[in-house]
Amino acid sequence: MSCGNPTTEPDALMQRRKKYDKTKNCVRCKDAQGNIVIRHTVYCKNCFTPLLIHKFRRVLEPTVNPKPDGPRRTALKPAGNLVIGFSGGLGSSVLLDLVHRCYVALDKSTMPTEGGRDHPRHERVWKKVTVCYVEVCDAFPGMDDRTDEIAHFVSRYDELDFVPLRIQHAFDRTWWERMGRSTSFSDIGVGLADESLLIEPLSQTYPDPLTALRTYLSSLPTPTAIHSSIQALTRVLLLHTALQTGSSHLVLGTSLTSLAVSLISGVAQGAGFNVREESMEEWTPDPETRPTPDTVPDDGTEGARKSKEAKRTVRIVRPLRDIGMKECATWAWWSHIPVVGKEKWVWPGAKPGIGTLTKDFILGLEQDYPSTVSTIVRTCGKLAPKGEVAGKCILCGRPAQRGVQEWKARISIRSQPPPPPSDSDSTDAPATPAPVVPESKADTRPSLTPYLCYPCHTTLTSRSARPVPSPWPDTAHSSVAPLPVWTEARLGTHADVGVSVADEEEIAVAKKMGQEEMKGIVNEFLLDDEEAS
Ligand SMILES: [Zn+2]
Ligand SMILES: [Zn+2]
Repeated sequence: MSCGNPTTEPDALMQRRKKYDKTKNCVRCKDAQGNIVIRHTVYCKNCFTPLLIHKFRRVLEPTVNPKPDGPRRTALKPAGNLVIGFSGGLGSSVLLDLVHRCYVALDKSTMPTEGGRDHPRHERVWKKVTVCYVEVCDAFPGMDDRTDEIAHFVSRYDELDFVPLRIQHAFDRTWWERMGRSTSFSDIGVGLADESLLIEPLSQTYPDPLTALRTYLSSLPTPTAIHSSIQALTRVLLLHTALQTGSSHLVLGTSLTSLAVSLISGVAQGAGFNVREESMEEWTPDPETRPTPDTVPDDGTEGARKSKEAKRTVRIVRPLRDIGMKECATWAWWSHIPVVGKEKWVWPGAKPGIGTLTKDFILGLEQDYPSTVSTIVRTCGKLAPKGEVAGKCILCGRPAQRGVQEWKARISIRSQPPPPPSDSDSTDAPATPAPVVPESKADTRPSLTPYLCYPCHTTLTSRSARPVPSPWPDTAHSSVAPLPVWTEARLGTHADVGVSVADEEEIAVAKKMGQEEMKGIVNEFLLDDEEAS
């Protein structure tokens, strides 16, 4: 297929397929008239329900046991409880409904038929199921607080615990303490004014959580950075809630459609290395900031608890990742789920970020070419990111790629030093371009950079060409922005911040480049005079 002009070359347009293949009858039972078309295949209402439940179980259940033990038949025995990350949107509403029907209410119609009535799969899987909602309204001006509506929605389902959080808990030391963590660390922030990301003491005492949140968001360089930071903060808040509730699993209501959006927008923001984590990830809490054992509920013996504690991880699963948004909407409609909905993350003057643009594009694509969205996800599923993991990012908790700092130092040309003293009259000596060395490379002050993954570093430093309006223009600007509590806690446990790191396994310390070394590297990329002419 060419990329030609569709008006002169009819072949340049992608052929639009018929909405459904062959007949209007359900592909499964063959005789009922279809009610829904899923990627060109027709299903009736009766066949759609088991199909959706099958797709949901097929993704979730192989991840339940700590060690995957092959196909079916074995009992599902998770290492802990379950947290449902709930946003109020369509996907997480459908997820909550499915989890409740299949694993809490133990609705017989959702059970697999194999193995008979006493099959171990027909028992309760997670002892406790917690719904955690993170309210983000305080991050944006004029947004409604939906906590009460969400609480009401969750109360439709019995036997679920509800934990409402607010996005500013990410900057709240009392919350951190409630999570069983020590708060004996000093007030540290980061200078977001330039790319050196220096770690500095906060000029005032640590502000209240709401001010800290708004100062942090106002210091970010782009609307995209604000959106992805709120997503990252929400994710880490959910993970700590999972840890605190003794949960081994955190499930998110990411549908096939929203997974395609997050994959494409993630890659666009430099998160290609974490493409696998978008589908499934295992999170290990920081050893330095692990909660004290008595705050983690457990009914085992002291010894068992300690060894369990040492290995505690949280598995993030997206059980709707094979189910498109249209199927979710159909499920919600037929099951009478009153979806609360989510508000758009906007503020006056802000241009849409990469995530919003990608979402608009993918939703349009899904309408016209329904198979393309699942192709995106399947293709991304085949990607195997190169490079090894060098510990965990101090901000988002995801694996960071080794060697990112060196690589970034090699390819980034951001600040041009002033031109050398004028000797331009001598034309016979060709001007050698001065190596571009950011000034900050020469200094040895502690920086946040070596602790960050590539996408987080990009989020904090990648500037827009035009000035970006802040959601909170009246927030007092400070040169040093506060950091989320988990970041502060981890930095604060090292007395000599940034210069040396206690746990070498955890974090790769950035190499400080000497002028000569940098010059050598830059020269690699310069053409020889002969080649150039
Ligand atoms: Zn049917
Ligand atoms: Zn990160």
